[in-house]
Amino acid sequence: MNHELRIDDELIVDIKRLGINGEGIAFYKKLAIFVDGVIPNEQVKIKLTKVDEKMAFGEVVELIKSNSARITPKCPHYGVCGACQTAHINYEKMLEFKRDSIIEALTRYTTINPRSFEIRKTIGMDDPYHYRNKASLQVKSVANETKVCMLQKESNMPVVIDDCNVQSETINKVVKQILKIIDKLEVPLYVPKYNRGVLRYIVCRVSYATNQVLVCFVCNEKNSKIKELAIETSKLENVASVYENFNTSMKDGIIFGDETNHLCKDEFIIETIGDYKFRLKPTTFFQLNTTQTKKMYDEVKRLAKLSFKETVLDAYCGVGTIGLYIAKMAKEVIGIEYNKESVEQANLNATLNKIKNAKFLQGDTAELLPKLISQGQNFDVAIVDPPRTGLGETLCKTLLNAKIKRIIYVSCNPSTFAKDLAILDEAYTVKQIQPIDMFPQTSLVECVVLLELKSKRQP
Ligand code: SAH
Repeated sequence: MNHELRIDDELIVDIKRLGINGEGIAFYKKLAIFVDGVIPNEQVKIKLTKVDEKMAFGEVVELIKSNSARITPKCPHYGVCGACQTAHINYEKMLEFKRDSIIEALTRYTTINPRSFEIRKTIGMDDPYHYRNKASLQVKSVANETKVCMLQKESNMPVVIDDCNVQSETINKVVKQILKIIDKLEVPLYVPKYNRGVLRYIVCRVSYATNQVLVCFVCNEKNSKIKELAIETSKLENVASVYENFNTSMKDGIIFGDETNHLCKDEFIIETIGDYKFRLKPTTFFQLNTTQTKKMYDEVKRLAKLSFKETVLDAYCGVGTIGLYIAKMAKEVIGIEYNKESVEQANLNATLNKIKNAKFLQGDTAELLPKLISQGQNFDVAIVDPPRTGLGETLCKTLLNAKIKRIIYVSCNPSTFAKDLAILDEAYTVKQIQPIDMFPQTSLVECVVLLELKSKRQP
């Protein structure tokens, strides 16, 4: 190694900025050192926990100079559970950091001057807690009592969580009641180490409009106890729908397997965003923060500037939420979505909302969009809302060739967004970026971006 640092060395560093996982970044000569639980402008004494050629990791031994944005995290599991990495940072300050992270990504991956367009303040929440409408919780037996767990950072080991303060309070309440039923019925839990047992995860979804909860028990194998568990669960206050799913995968992090069966009560629950209703089922996509979703879709609507004449593409449409939200302002909406069940739900959601000028097609956007265009389909506005991987080069090139006048890019990852923008820059100008906080207490940041076709291609 061409630096002299070793594991267990202690040194004093200044925290320069936040990384994408909410960790602080400091430098020793040119070596980046990642430190959890700190804030830019803080000075800390750290002990190195991992060192290699290109980077190092350290843990705080002493806080020498603290940032005034430092707060005591409200959650007792902070630092153990890997979910809320930035709960030690004052909320207003964190909204500023999120905006900064978008500018940093643009500076790193593009040659676009971030001062050449408006980047607005991050839209936050009035109450940045209890916002999550979905929980996927691993179950585990602790001293003969069933508990739910979140995963620990890095090790991915389950950590028992009794109450989660970013989770819907209704879900927290229902989960506690379900755990009691599991113990009463002696439902066999899955033990990953032996790949044996039945119940693996409890997945809950809640509608913030009706407070109804959908519960799905993810199991390793069929077992009659699950039916009994479902019946008892269906009697709980707020529970409106119960499902089972089978997942035999040994891989970490995969919640659902292919087979899902409806067991009790309603087949779906209904969530409302603005004037629109959407069916929620266990395995289809739905934005996780219902309150912020309305604000995000309102931003899409504002930036799309529709005048009833436009044909709009809703790429990566999920269950059709954005397309249906703006359909009344457009001539026609065509959605593209990879997941078959989501496409089915999107078309059912169109009927549910009595929207006749929207249709949703199944396919990979990068393959289906060029096909539609070659068949003569024109689009005036494209709304793209890709997963964290971004659009990728093929789709960016298709968009460049299609010369769609306006693109609304909804991004959940500033790095991949900036990389896509470096390609789209050839024919599009960034007009405005609106960051939105969909995940308070975490470092995740979303933004809605307006791109307009340059009047003449620059050489
Ligand atoms: N716009 C929706 C969904 C966004 S999440 C909403 O606001 O709710 C991204 C969606 O893209 C997911 O539903 C996922 O299934 C879908 N997806 C992922 N890769 C895709 C691809 N290559 N082509 C089309 N859809 C894709």
